[in-house]
Amino acid sequence: MQVKQLREQLAAMAADKGLDRPARILLTAAECAPLAKTGGLADVVGTLPKYLNKLGFDARVMVPYHRIIKERYGDKVEYLFSFYVSLGWRTKFVGVNRLELDGVCIWLIENEEYFSGPIYMPDREGEQYAFFTRAVPEALFRLDFIPDVMHCNDWHTGMLPLLLKTQYIDSPMGGTRTLLTIHNIAYQGLCKFDFVQDFLSIPDGCLGLMERYGMADFLKAGCVMADRVNTVSPSYAREICTWEYGEGLDPVLSLRGDVDGIVNGIDKAVWRPGTDKRIPANYTRAKMQGKAKCKAALMEETGLEVNLDRPLIGMVTRLVEQKGLELVMGAIDQLLWDTDCAFVLLGNGNRKYEDWLRGLEARHPGRACAWIGYDDDLSHHIYAGCDFFLMPSRFEPCGISQLISMAYGTLPIVRETGGLRDTVQPYNQYTGEGTGFTFQWADSLDMADACRRAIDLYYNNKPAMETLIKNAMAVDYSCENWAFEYGKLYLSML
Ligand code: ADP
Repeated sequence: MQVKQLREQLAAMAADKGLDRPARILLTAAECAPLAKTGGLADVVGTLPKYLNKLGFDARVMVPYHRIIKERYGDKVEYLFSFYVSLGWRTKFVGVNRLELDGVCIWLIENEEYFSGPIYMPDREGEQYAFFTRAVPEALFRLDFIPDVMHCNDWHTGMLPLLLKTQYIDSPMGGTRTLLTIHNIAYQGLCKFDFVQDFLSIPDGCLGLMERYGMADFLKAGCVMADRVNTVSPSYAREICTWEYGEGLDPVLSLRGDVDGIVNGIDKAVWRPGTDKRIPANYTRAKMQGKAKCKAALMEETGLEVNLDRPLIGMVTRLVEQKGLELVMGAIDQLLWDTDCAFVLLGNGNRKYEDWLRGLEARHPGRACAWIGYDDDLSHHIYAGCDFFLMPSRFEPCGISQLISMAYGTLPIVRETGGLRDTVQPYNQYTGEGTGFTFQWADSLDMADACRRAIDLYYNNKPAMETLIKNAMAVDYSCENWAFEYGKLYLSML
């Protein structure tokens, strides 16, 4: 559907609700791309409001003013005002700043003590985001922006629904509806009860509803108190209601019975091979010549032997257990010995994986490259230059990387879990349908088998490969449809 039609449908829904102005939405989170990003959460918070506004909403963002934002965007940021909040017996400074990016108003909450270091301070995350939780409603009052819907994301803002329904119920924000989106249930923000009582003045009567293993759980508070809870793919929405994936919150979520999932969109202004300025050559579904140039340039850049006939498998990932690194460790050496393929990985995180990857590179000179670090440009080069993109995740709420790789005609090889299951259609050798390769078990052999199927197709069935690439590039995870789904959800909550 065209943007105009989507806009009209939402306007009709809003009129039914008696709204005669754009619905006011506040997205709040710990990260927001491109300002401060460690993963897909930032992509969602940075992209969704831009498209919501195109569909007739008044969507704004509130995130911490992290040091990294100050360093990169400081000269564009406008200081608005400051005030003090109480965190128990403490009094803390809150600076409110404003940045406009792509027409979206982003409010940045400043505090040197909490946000002058990393986005997540080791051992002090609870304090950082308890402070942020208190600062958000207090800043909104002073900005005179009372949202119709406050869209909270992950545990860092999970306590807000509870605060609004208890401490702010008699304020103008008492009528604000709350949506909590779970991007990753593995991170819940566990603190001591004393801490939340002390910092956020949570009364005794509320402690039980956020209790998990004798600790106060920020995310659980949101799961219990938010008006709606959703997640980032239908499969993950089902999975987190089960013991295997629910990380202890499955009883609460299945009791709610209303948890559903909206698959993330990708921002085509950033991720389109036809216009992407960061890749060495542009290409489209109809004119693919540029992709070979991207492959050659990537092989050269990463120190691999430049051999365009050799299938190149790539990964761009946080190096954490969730992403299936154990499976990679169990299979990639053998794959590189047994088949004529090459492997490039960009990622950082757990030391154990970083060290192992350095060893892999040493064992397979010219055939394997491990680029340890965070590098936006190189990530674009990998999405464009590889033939296959590997994501063997143990669990995957949505996953953005496989969507990007499909847009770049780089066929994903994924484990059938969460959003990966919902977005990658496995290759069917009888019909030629599919957009990638999938495997079921969190097991190295199963992953290796999927990689071998992909490599086999690459060498032995070029026409089928080309069809798959065309199918993958035709998949539409556009942000307009994604924002439309969120728009409907917000309006249904009013
Ligand atoms: P998650 O949010 O769990 O990390 P997603 O697949 O949803 O996984 O999103 C990951 C995003 O972060 C993608 O846009 C990916 O390109 C990017 N990314 C991850 N690691 C790196 C890295 N080391 N360098 C550059 N970009 C990265």
